Amino acid sequence: MGLKNRIEQLKKKRPGYGEILDFYQKIREAQDDVKASLRIDPIKLKQEWKKLLAKEGFSLIQKEDFPVDIEVSAKLFQDLCRIGKEANPHMAEQVGKIEEALENKRITMKKLFKEGVKEKKVQQVADEFGLDQKVFSFLIQSSTRPSIEAGMERLRGEVDSEAWLKGYCPICGSLPSLSLLKEEVGKRYLLCSYCGYQWRIDRLFCPFCNNKDRESLHYLLAEGEEAYRIDLCDKCHQYIKTIDYRNLAESDPVLEDLATPHLDILATQKGYKRPVPNPWTN
Ligand SMILES: [Zn+2]
Ligand SMILES: [Zn+2]
Repeated sequence: MGLKNRIEQLKKKRPGYGEILDFYQKIREAQDDVKASLRIDPIKLKQEWKKLLAKEGFSLIQKEDFPVDIEVSAKLFQDLCRIGKEANPHMAEQVGKIEEALENKRITMKKLFKEGVKEKKVQQVADEFGLDQKVFSFLIQSSTRPSIEAGMERLRGEVDSEAWLKGYCPICGSLPSLSLLKEEVGKRYLLCSYCGYQWRIDRLFCPFCNNKDRESLHYLLAEGEEAYRIDLCDKCHQYIKTIDYRNLAESDPVLEDLATPHLDILATQKGYKRPVPNPWTN
């Protein structure tokens, strides 16, 4: 099902989430629009190290190694600022401050896109201009996301998604934001929070502390929502949201996550933490 139709379906079920879902749709459309014009540099891999890296459990590259199309990201940033302005008063206020700093040439986007992967740098700039760090960081990451995803696509063939089996991304080393159950047998995959790559893991496994003990791994289900569940770990007291595609036609997992904040509340109330929060709601 296409994004637009799925959003309509979700809005009917949960009208209260309409605003955030509309916002998501606009941002995704703006990101898709720039895809065709992306130009990213080739990623140089040390082929002779590849086997050793995988054997030792190192990811292929680091987050900062992804090439970014600065021009396309800057254009997208402007589009996202415009969408943000229309979305809600808080975003509008933040975008106003950012635009002012840009006009006075006190921030350059180029520098931010290069250094934007470093949370400290983004925080520093946000502090300097009195910006809400979460909003600022969201805008930067959403602007570079098409470049990152294009880089991930190029590296896809270099790793084995079925054989890695670790709690972090084989391509960029980041933690997963979601887990996915697929095919009739319910093969379990993790979705990288940074580059969007998906890789297989065991059904009984906590990606955050490597726990495999049946006794301390549970899950929560919400009534009438068999396509989602919350996987809890009693060892590290953290959780990951799981989208069960055995009970749901193919759709964007990030959208499904965004449409189920009530499940996060449920897990939080029970005392579990989410290591990689949904950037759209936090
Ligand atoms: Zn990744
Ligand atoms: Zn754990």
